[in-house]
Amino acid sequence: MRPSFHDCGEELIPFRHRAIVVGGGIAGLVAAQVLSRRFDSVTLVERDTPSTEPGPRPGVPQSRHCHLLLLRGQQVMNDMFPGLDSELRARGAESMDWIADFAMFWHGRWVPRFQSGLTGHCSSRDLLELVLRERVTRIPNITFVPGHEVTGLLREAEAVRGVRVRARDGGRTDVLGGDFVVDASGRRSRAPQWLEALGYPLPEESVVDSHTGYASRLFEPPPGASHGWKVLVVRSHAPSSRAAGIYPMEGRWLVTLTGVAGDAPDPTERGFDEFLRTLPDPAIGAALQGARPLGPVTGFRGAATVWRHYERLRRNPDGFVLLGDAFCSFNPVYAQGMTLAVLGAQVLDQHLIAQRSRGTGLSGLAPRFHRQLGEITKSAWLMATSEDFRYPTTTGERPSSGVRLVQAYMNLVIEGMRERPSLFRNMVEVAQMLKPPQSLFQPEVLANTLLPAVKRAAAASFPPS
Ligand SMILES: Cc1cc2nc3c(=O)[nH]c(=O)nc-3n(C[C@H](O)[C@H](O)[C@H](O)COP(=O)(O)OP(=O)(O)OC[C@H]3O[C@@H](n4cnc5c(N)ncnc54)[C@H](O)[C@@H]3O)c2cc1C
Repeated sequence: MRPSFHDCGEELIPFRHRAIVVGGGIAGLVAAQVLSRRFDSVTLVERDTPSTEPGPRPGVPQSRHCHLLLLRGQQVMNDMFPGLDSELRARGAESMDWIADFAMFWHGRWVPRFQSGLTGHCSSRDLLELVLRERVTRIPNITFVPGHEVTGLLREAEAVRGVRVRARDGGRTDVLGGDFVVDASGRRSRAPQWLEALGYPLPEESVVDSHTGYASRLFEPPPGASHGWKVLVVRSHAPSSRAAGIYPMEGRWLVTLTGVAGDAPDPTERGFDEFLRTLPDPAIGAALQGARPLGPVTGFRGAATVWRHYERLRRNPDGFVLLGDAFCSFNPVYAQGMTLAVLGAQVLDQHLIAQRSRGTGLSGLAPRFHRQLGEITKSAWLMATSEDFRYPTTTGERPSSGVRLVQAYMNLVIEGMRERPSLFRNMVEVAQMLKPPQSLFQPEVLANTLLPAVKRAAAASFPPS
């Protein structure tokens, strides 16, 4: 077959044949968009049959809980789907400045608020996913196959050549041939078992569990509510284990409670109200006075950080990669998952382009891609797990011994940010993945952080006579 060509802006890329994406969550949708520019056709297989309205579905039970898309994720997604931001706003997402509109109680005080220009949107995950799905299904060379479950991989020599698919209504099993398969089936991905069935080794797993649990409920805001904030968060900080937030969700409020160290909120009305009463600050309970509950309380448990180390596999079949939670699922309290999924899709695209310029087809792409995905995962992993290990009940692979020093330094940064808005802004940029964590260790930040701490210590040791 003569290759056909598609002008995708940067350069001419030859179409290959069919790519298959397993899972139509956030990672699967962004992967499908990327692959549609590099392959003849893309088939996206999704177990659920999603509705045409934003709403929860069985395959993503986490969507009933707060999902903040970090600013870095918003930027990259907006580049992939031009106009996404304005479309989300037009359909009810709230525009916000992530410092001015974000009231947060942390380390026993309210953090500073000021216009920062760090602007973006806040929406439900259901709306974000619906808009992405609508965009993706309008791309002519993508076929969306709902109501079907992938049950295994097909192998030819040392390459994956498609998937086994079962219809969920009648259980009919079929095979779907393809040259490239992306597993984006989330936290409960069966890819290790699929690879093992083909004779490949299982990936090693690192698990860090801070024993965090969620409970959420939707509310209609009290009539005429005007508080000067758009998001209100009471954040936990060890040893305190309880946190909560009010997030704007297309005109409603989503209230999400989070309990760390095994202190998960009981997902009942009574448990929800009791948990609210015991937060380190009463602001959330007060804001909810007069708010009307719009549905039941739902819970979520089992949100450990799990990294399946595909980047360490000695043997990989060609033509099979993993993306999103299937590669590494994070403790959700740091809101990294969707951003890592979209960054991973961006890296995948760069690798597809590089393979093309090397003229090596898909050969060797999987280990190269997984190694780079491992690199971007590492920094998010360190940020999340070093916070998790502030709780002595956290279990799993401990980060290096230097972590205590980093935690102590971060305490000084948090202390210093109250007087220095620029320091706080820097922290927010790191948390939003706009800057690397190393930016908090640059000389001027070190000076701003350590000097006041030394002065405070000196003043305490040598009080004026
Ligand atoms: C309680 C909670 C709160 C969270 N909050 C945030 C947050 O604030 N910010 C953030 O960025 N992230 C958050 N996350 C993480 C976020 O949900 C994921 O990281 C992100 O959605 C990427 O997921 P994914 O697309 O890889 O997997 P998922 O979203 O889980 O999607 C997987 C899809 O695959 C389908 N599927 C599964 N198996 C098969 C199969 N065999 N065949 C076909 N289809 C299949 C499922 O039906 C589903 O549609 C949170 C997670 C939890 C649990």
